[in-house]
Amino acid sequence: MKRSLAAIAICSLAFPVAVLAASAGPDAVAATPPMATPQDRPYGGEIHLAVDTTDVERRIVHVHERLSGVTPNLVLLYPKWLPGNHAPTGPIERLAGLKITANGAQVLWRRDPVDIYAFRVQAPAGVKSIDIDFDYLSPTSAKVGPPEMSGNMLILIWNTVVLYPAGYYARQIPVEATLTLPEGWKFGSALEMDSTGGTRTTFKPVSLETLIDSPVYAGRYAARLDLDPTGKVPVSLDLFADRSASLVVKPEQLEAHRALVQQAYKLFASHHYAHYDFLYSLSEEVTQKGLEHQQSSENGASPDSFTDWDKLAFHRELLPHEFTHSWNGKFRRPADLWTPNYNVPMQNSLLWVYEGQTTYWGFVLAARSGLWTKQDALDQFAIDTAYYEALTGAQWRALQDTTNDPIINYRRPMSWRDFQRFEDYYHEGAMIWLDADTLIRERSQGKRSLDDFARAFFGINDGSVTVVTYTFNDLVKALNAVEPYDWARFFHQRLDAVAKPAPLDGVRRGGYRLIFTDTPSEFQKGRDDSLKHANLMFSIGLDIDNKDGTVTGTIWDSPAFKANITEGTQILAVNGAAYSGEVLKNAVTEARSTKAPIELILKNGDRFRVARIEYYDGLHYPHLERDVSVPARFDDIVAARK
Ligand SMILES: [Zn+2]
Repeated sequence: MKRSLAAIAICSLAFPVAVLAASAGPDAVAATPPMATPQDRPYGGEIHLAVDTTDVERRIVHVHERLSGVTPNLVLLYPKWLPGNHAPTGPIERLAGLKITANGAQVLWRRDPVDIYAFRVQAPAGVKSIDIDFDYLSPTSAKVGPPEMSGNMLILIWNTVVLYPAGYYARQIPVEATLTLPEGWKFGSALEMDSTGGTRTTFKPVSLETLIDSPVYAGRYAARLDLDPTGKVPVSLDLFADRSASLVVKPEQLEAHRALVQQAYKLFASHHYAHYDFLYSLSEEVTQKGLEHQQSSENGASPDSFTDWDKLAFHRELLPHEFTHSWNGKFRRPADLWTPNYNVPMQNSLLWVYEGQTTYWGFVLAARSGLWTKQDALDQFAIDTAYYEALTGAQWRALQDTTNDPIINYRRPMSWRDFQRFEDYYHEGAMIWLDADTLIRERSQGKRSLDDFARAFFGINDGSVTVVTYTFNDLVKALNAVEPYDWARFFHQRLDAVAKPAPLDGVRRGGYRLIFTDTPSEFQKGRDDSLKHANLMFSIGLDIDNKDGTVTGTIWDSPAFKANITEGTQILAVNGAAYSGEVLKNAVTEARSTKAPIELILKNGDRFRVARIEYYDGLHYPHLERDVSVPARFDDIVAARK
C-alpha cells in the first residue's frame, strides 16, 4: 500500500497533467468493503467443531461447527495461506453444502467477490451464536487431487474443515474439537484427548493455531512405536498402512529411528513440543506427503518401506527432514513468513534457511542416525552437485528468486524444470549450508562447526512451544558469534547473483570431488528403480518413465533438447528396437564406439517422428570421490555424535 502511493506521488510531480487528466474509457468500480485485519486480542467466544469422517467410502467429511461470540458484520474465513505449503493453497473448491443457521432459522451468507475465501454472514441483530454445516469433499481420485482418504486410512488436516472469524490472531481463537472415525480405526495426533467413547473422541481445548498445526492420521491397520522409551518427553512413530504386513518393523530399523531422536537432541539441545508424533502412512492409496508441524509431522512412503529396506534408502531422509522442522521452521520461523492467521499473505524470503538448512540437517541426521550410510549421504550430494553444476536456470534466475516458487507455481508440473528452476532453495540451499559448515570448520581448524550454530539458534527456550521469529540479520549475527566472518556477503554472493559458478565449495572443502562413471550408485539405482524411471539426465539429458517410455524431463541445452525431445514425448523405439530403459542405455553405450546418432521413434499425440541424438560420450552417473589433499570434513559432519 505505501509503496504504490509513493510511486503515484513521484509520477504526479513529473507528469502532473498526464496523471490528473481524465481519459476516455471505463472508470474502475469501487473495491469491496475492507475485511477486519487480525488483532492480538482474545476472541469473545469459541468454536465447537464436530468432524465426522465415517463417510469414508465416498470421501465426504461432514462438518458441524457452533460458533459463539458472534458480532454484527461477521466474516468467516476458510484458511488460504497454509503453513508448510508457504502458499495460498487452501482447497476452497472442496468446501460444499454450506448452510448457516441461528436458533434454527437460516442465515444468508455471501462470498466476498475479491477474496473468495471470505464469507460475509448476515446474522440477525442480537444473535450470539450460529451453527455452520458444510461438507469437505476430499478427492475421490488422484485426478481431482492428492487422495487423503481410502477404505483403510485417512489424513485429516484441520484447516480443510474449519471456518473461523476474521479479525483475530489464530492463537486467540479457542477451539474444542470432536472427531468421529470409522468403527475400529485407530488414530495418531499431537492433540491431547479429553475423552473418548466408541468412535467419537473429544480433544482438549486448544487455540486454532495449535489445532491447525496438529493433523490426525487414522486407519484400520496401525502401529505405534515408542522412539524414546527413556526420555522425559514422549516421541512416537505412528504407522498407518494399506495392509498389516507393511507394519512389521525390524529391531535394527526401530533402533535407527530411535537414534534419530537422540542425534537431533545432541544437535539442537532442546525440544519444542509436549510430545511428538511422526504420523507415517505406508500407502499407495493415499498421498505420500512430507509436511512439518511443530509437535508432529505428516510423512508418507511406499508400503514396502520397512519390508524392502535396503532398496529404498533414498527416501529415508524424510523423517529426519520433517523432525528438523520442529526446530527450524516451526519453533524458529522467518519473521516475514509468520502470519497472524491463515488469510494474511506469507513472504518466503528466508526459505533457503527454513527449507535449505532443514534439507542439510535432514541429510546429516539421516547419516548420523544410521537411517543412511555415509555412502548414501555422499551419493545424495553427488546427485545435487552434478545437477547444480549443470543447471542452466541459474544463468538467468538467482536462487533467492526461487523462494517465490510456492506462490508462482505450487508444485504443478513444469515443462522445463531445470531452466525454469524449481524450488532450488531446498537442495542448492543445502549445498550452501555444507559450504558454510565446512568453512567454519576450516577457519576454526576443526574446533567449531554448524552444530554450534544449531545449538545457539534452535536450542533456546527448551521445552517452550512459543514461536520465535528471526530475520536475515539475526541469522548473520548468530553465525558471527560462532565464527567471525562476513556472512552477509557470503549469503548475498550465493543468493542474489546470476550466472555464478555452482556452489561446490562445500564438497571440495569437505574433502571430495565430483566424478562421473558409467554406473549409477546403489543409492541412485534404488531411487530410479523405485520410481520406475530411466535417469539419463547427465548423458543425453532425459528422465523417462519406464512404464511406457514417456519423457518426464529434458535437460535444457542437452543432446536430447537439441533433438527437440520434450517432456510428454513418448519414446516408442530406439535404433529400431522397442523402447525399454535398458535398450536405451545400451544404445547410449554403443554410440560411444559406433559414433552413429541414437535414432528414436517418437510419439506426440497422433504424430510420429524420428529423432537422432548426437551424443557419443556414453553413460554418465555422478559420484563423489575422496580428495586426500583435503581433510575429510564431510566424514566428520555425517559421523554420529557421541
Ligand atoms: Zn521441508
